[in-house]
Amino acid sequence: MIGKADVAVVGGGIVGLAHAWQAAVRGYSVVLFERDAIAQGASVRNFGMILPLGAPPGETHEQALRSLSLWRQLLLDAGLWYRESGALMLAYHQDEMDAMCELADSDMGHEYGCTWVPSKAIAAKYSAVNTNGLLGGLWCRDVLLVDPREVVARVPAWLSKEHGVILRYGTEVQSVSSQHIATRHETWAIERTIVCPGADLDTLFADVLSEASLTYCRLQMLRTVAQPTHWQLEPAILGGLSLRHYPVFESSRATRTVARRVARDSPELDRWGIHIMAVQNGRNEVVIGDSHEYNSAPKWQERPEITALLLQQLVGLANPPSLKLDHKWTGVYVKHASRAAVVLRPLPTVRVITGLGGLGMTLSLALAGEVLTAW
Ligand SMILES: Cc1cc2nc3c(=O)[nH]c(=O)nc-3n(C[C@H](O)[C@H](O)[C@H](O)COP(=O)(O)OP(=O)(O)OC[C@H]3O[C@@H](n4cnc5c(N)ncnc54)[C@H](O)[C@@H]3O)c2cc1C
Repeated sequence: MIGKADVAVVGGGIVGLAHAWQAAVRGYSVVLFERDAIAQGASVRNFGMILPLGAPPGETHEQALRSLSLWRQLLLDAGLWYRESGALMLAYHQDEMDAMCELADSDMGHEYGCTWVPSKAIAAKYSAVNTNGLLGGLWCRDVLLVDPREVVARVPAWLSKEHGVILRYGTEVQSVSSQHIATRHETWAIERTIVCPGADLDTLFADVLSEASLTYCRLQMLRTVAQPTHWQLEPAILGGLSLRHYPVFESSRATRTVARRVARDSPELDRWGIHIMAVQNGRNEVVIGDSHEYNSAPKWQERPEITALLLQQLVGLANPPSLKLDHKWTGVYVKHASRAAVVLRPLPTVRVITGLGGLGMTLSLALAGEVLTAW
């Protein structure tokens, strides 16, 4: 069979869905190819946090805020679950408190929507937080929670129904040329192709991708069974360990003190790149993560040591009634050392977009609009 469309998008992860949506709203006819019946990559394995706090200051943070607005529009239009959760980064050590207060008191903190909240106010408002030894926390307003499983499963059907996007799920794209793409059974005549392969750097444009300085990162995650309904973890919770991960805290001397303390007192956390985030999703389950192993072997084995550390760190921050695990998994993303995303142009009619690292959910909707506008 020969099909025809203005735009082909390869990959049904969040980056591909974002590009299919943004192409369709610009009036292009769009066909979306995904290898699996439901996408199985990083987009279904994450926390579902739209987290501008994680973006470096400047252009990327602004892109994250634009994405946040686009997410609200998408979620409302598609009728999907979300929560304007905000996030609370909790401080149990003086150095953590110093780093958080420094940001809260700065112009940058204002841009990031962050304010310092004393421990008493947290205890009065959030009974799910562990207040033992708590010094206070950094409240971050601009955080939205979505359900990644729901987004990946339902957005394609919505794109098809509302925007006429043609879906080809269970269909791997085997080759892309200037104006054609080929699957096992079909050839399509296409004006423009947008390849969003996630961490699959081998199937399409492997030569170009191998030169793109991308690093694999493997993360380990946990999900508890549904908690009783009376227990509500309203904001996303982050521990002080996250100070070491986010560029907005990088210039603070207190953050360097935190990093030195962790390296000295808890080297096992550094060994596995652990920082703690926890969210309660719309099904009342608590999703907990994560660890970071760079360029790790492709074959996954769960590391029980990481599971134990994640649970041990979680209970320092929050008190879910049940720590019974419903699911454990890993996810892999690729990232670039200095760029928030990698946009390649192997042919004038083709873009390859990947490398969004740990912020793909946060950045992809705005990025897609920018890629299409700049074309
Ligand atoms: C554990 C974990 C937690 C995270 N938490 C967050 C978070 O809370 N907030 C945040 O902003 N980001 C988070 N991220 C990052 C985010 O999930 C990723 O950056 C993002 O999902 C990457 O999306 P993608 O579309 O590029 O890749 P993927 O989701 O991997 O999708 C790529 C898709 O392309 C398909 N594909 C590839 N090649 C072909 C082909 N030739 N033909 C057809 N289909 C093809 C694959 O089957 C796959 O479905 C997290 C990541 C992980 C792993």
